[in-house]
Amino acid sequence: MKIRSPIVSVLGHVDHGKTTLLDYIRGGAMAQNEAGGITQHIGGTEIPMEVIETICGDLLKKLDIRETMPGLFFIDTPGHEAFTTLRKRGGALADLAILIVDIKEGFKPQTYEALNILKTFKTPFVVAATKIDKIYGWETHEGLSFIQTYKKQANNVQEKLDNGIYELVGILHDEGFESERFDRVENFAKQICIIPISAKTGEGISELLTMLMGLAQQYLKEQLQLEPDAPAKGTILEVKEEKGLGVTVDAVIYDGILRKNDTIVLTSRDNVITTKIRSLLKPRPLEEMRDSKKRFLKVDEVVAAAGIKIVAPKIENVISGSPLRVARGDFEGVKEEIMNEIESIKIDTDEMGVIVKADTLGSLEALVSMLKAMDVPIRAADIGDVSRRDVVDASIVKNANPEYGVIIAFNIKILPSASEEIKTTGVKLFSADVIYQLTEDYAEWTAAAAERKKKEWIDAIIRPAKIRIIPKLVFRFSKPAIAGIEVLGGTVKKDYILIRDTGERVGKVESMQDKGDNKPSTSKGQQVAMAIKDAVYGKNFEEGDVLYVDIPESHYKILETELKSKLSEDELQILEELVKIKRKEDNLWGLRVEY
Ligand code: GDP
Repeated sequence: MKIRSPIVSVLGHVDHGKTTLLDYIRGGAMAQNEAGGITQHIGGTEIPMEVIETICGDLLKKLDIRETMPGLFFIDTPGHEAFTTLRKRGGALADLAILIVDIKEGFKPQTYEALNILKTFKTPFVVAATKIDKIYGWETHEGLSFIQTYKKQANNVQEKLDNGIYELVGILHDEGFESERFDRVENFAKQICIIPISAKTGEGISELLTMLMGLAQQYLKEQLQLEPDAPAKGTILEVKEEKGLGVTVDAVIYDGILRKNDTIVLTSRDNVITTKIRSLLKPRPLEEMRDSKKRFLKVDEVVAAAGIKIVAPKIENVISGSPLRVARGDFEGVKEEIMNEIESIKIDTDEMGVIVKADTLGSLEALVSMLKAMDVPIRAADIGDVSRRDVVDASIVKNANPEYGVIIAFNIKILPSASEEIKTTGVKLFSADVIYQLTEDYAEWTAAAAERKKKEWIDAIIRPAKIRIIPKLVFRFSKPAIAGIEVLGGTVKKDYILIRDTGERVGKVESMQDKGDNKPSTSKGQQVAMAIKDAVYGKNFEEGDVLYVDIPESHYKILETELKSKLSEDELQILEELVKIKRKEDNLWGLRVEY
């Protein structure tokens, strides 16, 4: 069995230095004086093992994987969008990741998001704490290993660096990962390595590469096994129009061999297509580029891991991030395999749930898995812009369950017809190009909605209150009786039932007026003119009577068990009086347990 190069992806917050690190790795700084040189692929860069050995020197000696592994294959596009777009069956296309964090800035929203994505995909990773050359007082030693350059720094500079590292260790701990500076790691299976680096000066890069090799040795030995003659498996990077070539697809091949004239199976919107490769193209090496007008070089075959441009008919609508398979004879089998892979995301949905849309299969999958981790049910998950149909769909859900009648859209456009429909239906749309922000926003929104619901529920519970009929202020005797009243305690609201201290019903609060203004509620100390439906003066109430708000037994139980802490002193007092009144009639009132 041969082993292929692991595919490595760089993730992290914007401006923390992903591109600079990749440029350093790709760039002349390392390549020039090293044997073998660095191979440019479409969408990727391969550092052969000889180069890694030259850079890492003795550091690598302990790792036996270096004898079999051809090198490291870095995906050129950094960022978690690329990471999530580039998937393969069962996970991310990248076998390993570097999570980059600016040592001075620490974790930022996209760092958390990247970490969450790595968690979701279970991708082994190291943390590169970068820009160490910007630590105040740092003395740069170009290209040196971290250990060597660290020893040459002043004590207070070393301390600043270590403080930065410990902040990262703390955050990673809160996020469920144990970590340490790589040279202090005791258990590589349990702790994440943090490697301090500078992508500008190259300090620490040798250890970064060594730790990646270590991860590969520890976790990937089986995953990287390659049957060199097996039909290729790959992932589409992007579909591109090239001058003089027409439409091409760029793909990363992670398994097997891809040959000119191979029949490949690809996914376009809503369809699986079969086509035959016309040509396979690699980037022309830089030094040849000057002499040739052509940017690409034709090749007859590539073996994984490789990035390649494919020219073939019928590929205009192929989806970025979708799978590529070579079919040798068994077209139907391969087709079905691809269908299953695509459908695995779409099928698993609920009747009642949110609508999720994203730009690529990978980002859709990442978003869906994060929502699932939050126990959010999903009605539909699909690729493409937000359409009117999505909004109609969400509004149907909204009518039954407002919490789920929403659209969660990642990195896509909202079509004009959809915007119109959103205005008329009031469907809530969450749209962003950071997955982490989408899930946070949604969680915040649902928490606020739950809070509102709870408040409404609390408001609906009838609370204790009592009033007094003010003598000489009975304005009307019946139908309805109207009298001046004073609230002695609590709050009286419209539609509450009033009873006497004998338990006898007086009537229902029809309205309350204060100087001609209607009042929905009246609280302790206030006086109003109250219309009491069904009450008859002289028959069921008198001047000077004290009346209580009647509380249903079910409400009383909620007050007792859940809202007692929310009641004021006088409300508690009135409640006690009411219970006495009720228990004169029924000595078990409020005590029975319902099953
Ligand atoms: P990205 O958005 O993560 O790809 O970040 P970039 O690679 O574009 O870096 C953002 C800025 O930080 C650029 O101005 C870089 O030159 C600078 N930068 C990146 N890495 C380092 C580093 O290790 N040291 C220093 N001093 N500057 C860096």
